[in-house]
Amino acid sequence: MRHQLFIDGRFVDAADGRTLPTLNPHDNSVIAEVAMAGTADVDRAVAAAQRAFPSWSRLAAADRGRILLKLADLIETHAEELARLESLDTGHPLKDSRALDVPRTAACWRYFGGMADKFQGDVVPVEAGFLNYLLREPVGVVGQIVPWNFPLMFTAWKMAPALAAGNTVVLKPAEITPLSTLKIAELMAEAGLPDGVVNIVPGLGSVAGQHIAEHPGIAKVAFTGSTATGRRIVQASSGNLKKVQLELGGKGANIVFDDAHLTAAINGSAWAIFHNQGQACIAGSRLMLHSAIADEFLERFAALARSIRLGNPMDTATEMGPLTSAQHRDRVLSYVDVAREQGGELIAGGRPPARDELSRGCYVEPTIVRARTPQDRVAQEEVFGPFVTVLTFKDDDEALAIANGTQYGLGSGLWTANLQRAHRMAREMKAGMVWINSYKRVNPGSPFGGVGQSGYGREMGFDAMREYTQVKSVWVNVDAQTPPWYPR
Ligand code: NAP
Ligand code: MG
Repeated sequence: MRHQLFIDGRFVDAADGRTLPTLNPHDNSVIAEVAMAGTADVDRAVAAAQRAFPSWSRLAAADRGRILLKLADLIETHAEELARLESLDTGHPLKDSRALDVPRTAACWRYFGGMADKFQGDVVPVEAGFLNYLLREPVGVVGQIVPWNFPLMFTAWKMAPALAAGNTVVLKPAEITPLSTLKIAELMAEAGLPDGVVNIVPGLGSVAGQHIAEHPGIAKVAFTGSTATGRRIVQASSGNLKKVQLELGGKGANIVFDDAHLTAAINGSAWAIFHNQGQACIAGSRLMLHSAIADEFLERFAALARSIRLGNPMDTATEMGPLTSAQHRDRVLSYVDVAREQGGELIAGGRPPARDELSRGCYVEPTIVRARTPQDRVAQEEVFGPFVTVLTFKDDDEALAIANGTQYGLGSGLWTANLQRAHRMAREMKAGMVWINSYKRVNPGSPFGGVGQSGYGREMGFDAMREYTQVKSVWVNVDAQTPPWYPR
């Protein structure tokens, strides 16, 4: 299989003809060769997006919405193909790709398809005689850089609001997971998206990604990925002062109080960290247990973790697949040594599964580590794998101090039967999202994003539409009787 770049409505090779293989993380076999965009290709994509912008932005909002709604329908028609492609390229268990990634992707396109003609401007009640109205205008050509952990879903989260608002797009998927995004490009053409409105340029972050962030023809860059790369993007954006939106790392606090419904909390906390092999910015990677329930909780939690079925993602019985790349697996495993060096206790996992049929893949067993202090590296740094760090606390104040004691502030959760405590903690937690007696809920209508080193800006909901527009204030003298400034 060969895949090309998508520029100006056509699939094309890279200008220099270079390609990169994309691998199946189950056994590291090559799935396909994918064209690798260089700077000349990004330039072509930006030029196409610039040409497409005037007519796309002036198209009736309802007509833009209709194309996105059609795409949502096509995603549902091709649901099984998309789910398989996503699982093959990323290692998501097929069960999850079917139940979560694909339906959530379609729901996002549908939400913003419906939003296109409902997102409206304002009229400001100013002084008599004047009409002041606010237009929400698209920003222009938007550059979008997507990571490898949820390529299908994150492509939707980024592109759908941008397009609904009338922008045109140059998007770079992660070099290791481009396939589902390229399939979406094909479906977009089928849905009737005009040429050049969306351009997809798989390629290296340091080349194509960097060029997008620097490009003078791009008005805004939206990025999801690591905090370190986020900083590099801010620096690269300064040349033309483009707008920047960042969705970065996290170290989600997931707090279990002694009055929590333990069975629900144990299951929900396992989902919080082990879903998608822990490769989620919102993962509940710091499991904080009240000391009164810590031992019982941990025993049952570890038993559940050990029972999670690891295996080929294409097998529908599989509950946990491989990590998305060998390089990333090694990085995750290296944190087992980091934990040990600082006196952490390994409670479960910490190694690849000892099964021949998984030996060529990027698998890691569900791993539970008890840290010595909240300052330990495994309690502070984002591991981004099936690796949860356990901490204990004695009261609400201590829980809050630990929860808020990292540089991050993205997703977080708490389990308690006490209503006042639940809302008080939610108010005090340094986070963009708080889940009470649940974890990792997302919906296209609900704003998603972080504070601190987790980034800025919000995806989804009306907030996403605001991020992809800028306000123009228009003043009209209707019948104002202003005396002349220079009476003559
Ligand atoms: P990353 O470097 O942040 O990569 C994310 C995206 O940015 C990819 O498309 C990448 O391209 C691109 N990129 C890399 N360098 C760039 C640059 N200088 N300018 C513009 N774009 C650039 O993440 P990673 O190296 O794959 O993963 C490292 C760690 O980041 C993970 O362990 C995890 O902690 C964190 N992470 C967080 C999220 C999240 O959802 N917030 C997602 C992924 C990773 P390439 O594919 O070519 O690298
Ligand atoms: Mg791959």
